[in-house]
Amino acid sequence: MTVSHEEIYARLTHAYGLPPNLSGRTPWELLIASVLSQSAAPKQVDDAIASLTQAAVLTPQSLEQLSDDDLTALIRPAGNSKSKSRKLKIIARFLIHEYDGSVEAMVATSQESLREKLLALKGIGPETADHILLHVAGKPTFPVSARIARVFKRHEWLEFDADYAMCQEFFSGALESDVERLVPYQVLLDRIAGDYCRTRPRCEQCPLRTLLPEQGPLEIEWA
Ligand code: SF4
Repeated sequence: MTVSHEEIYARLTHAYGLPPNLSGRTPWELLIASVLSQSAAPKQVDDAIASLTQAAVLTPQSLEQLSDDDLTALIRPAGNSKSKSRKLKIIARFLIHEYDGSVEAMVATSQESLREKLLALKGIGPETADHILLHVAGKPTFPVSARIARVFKRHEWLEFDADYAMCQEFFSGALESDVERLVPYQVLLDRIAGDYCRTRPRCEQCPLRTLLPEQGPLEIEWA
């Protein structure tokens, strides 16, 4: 890599400022947001959480008792709602059985052990597990979504065929593993991916354009 995470972080915060602090959310809402955030914009996640709040689904127990159809309808604003509703139920049951429904008890588990437990749950992949570890449990890890990986691959900082584990290794130790900065770094990279680094990149207006390789972004077929 010819550029440091520090430099990218500096450019992102210069362009966007720091993202709003989400600490107003309860630990349970943060956990729900982690599951809903895959392939969804922050506004979609906010809308789905607002709809759950309006329906008074404020605990793992109340979510677990909802019918599959009702839950799917409530979280529809976040997209892919059938699959996400299955995941939410799995997480709610896990919390109830392992931690008596307490997110606070869950986050007190060590990083390694909690990651192992989350990955053992059906339908919970490494990206969701790492998202929960960073954004809910405040552990120093980095969830690498496909669209964030695409930014780094286009700049040839990451091999274009790097799998999830390789991408995650690439972020290991980034920003001195400082969670206070890893959280905004992840949020802002996701924003760059959504605003500019789409299937067709809009490099001309992008804050990272001066960091492109001389020949421009790597051009391959992106999903
Ligand atoms: S400069 Fe182009 S390739 Fe780089 S992040 Fe922005 S849109 Fe993507």
